[in-house]
Amino acid sequence: MQMARIMTVQGEIDAADLGFTLPHEHILVDFGGAETASADRYDREEVVRTMRPYVEEIAAAGVRSFVDCSPMYLARDVRVLRALSEQTGMQFITNTGQYKEPYLPEETFDITAQALAEQWIREWEEGIDGTDVRPGFIKTAVEPGPLAPTQQKVITAAAITSRATGLTIGTHTCAGIAAMHVLRLLSVHQVDPAKWIFIHAHQEKDFDLIRMVAREGCWIELDGIGAASDASILAMLLKLLDAGHVGQVLLSHDAGWYSVGEPNGGKPRPYTHLGETFLPLMRDFGIDEPTIHRITVGNPARAFAIREDWCRNC
Ligand SMILES: [Zn+2]
Repeated sequence: MQMARIMTVQGEIDAADLGFTLPHEHILVDFGGAETASADRYDREEVVRTMRPYVEEIAAAGVRSFVDCSPMYLARDVRVLRALSEQTGMQFITNTGQYKEPYLPEETFDITAQALAEQWIREWEEGIDGTDVRPGFIKTAVEPGPLAPTQQKVITAAAITSRATGLTIGTHTCAGIAAMHVLRLLSVHQVDPAKWIFIHAHQEKDFDLIRMVAREGCWIELDGIGAASDASILAMLLKLLDAGHVGQVLLSHDAGWYSVGEPNGGKPRPYTHLGETFLPLMRDFGIDEPTIHRITVGNPARAFAIREDWCRNC
């Protein structure tokens, strides 16, 4: 049997080599909007110089992989990620896909989901922005509530891309109702719920809704660690474990980043709260080491594994 593979900015690795992983962080973000988004708005070397200590800090603490969730038009920059990977040894995973307004280019409103997917599949086949760096997942975003037509198009394009490439889809979702709508649309396109990550799930305060979404079999990402209160995330995590969903949980900070437009990139938030504070808290509440290992190592390896076998003939 072939080993599960994961695509990093330095090429494919065995999923078994992913190690301790932060599944949702950012190195660089530009909130200027799709109209103005450009690598001319920042200095790559300054970004790398500024963010390198933050990456070295977690590498020294045992983090081996970093999923960078900045999509195109929000300063996804694979040259920055590759430079940081070369300098620190961190395994970075980047993405294809698109976010939501105002981070969608005009063209996205005019073309079909199929045409949009073809652009993203081309990034998988040929590389991103003139490099040979390939995406390791598909990043998308929706607003809370039912999906607007453009969001339906973006999610449909993600479904087509996932089936053509085997890549997992992550959607900035925040709300349980929106998550159910995304899952329904993905099921129409025969995408396995296990290929979908409910990003910012901790922002849904109704646990019954979280449980309803979790029962579908998708990934539940609690990615506000260090930003939301530890007590609120821990309470949700304990409920998910109680309900038998340990194999679906992802933990991350949604931290960083060099912020384009702010002097010297602003004040990045470090990626350390999980290891330094939240994991000890989990231990205090009786969560054992095998469970912690499963959540921080095993789950990301399964979540981001490329399932080409599964999709090639579909
Ligand atoms: Zn994020």
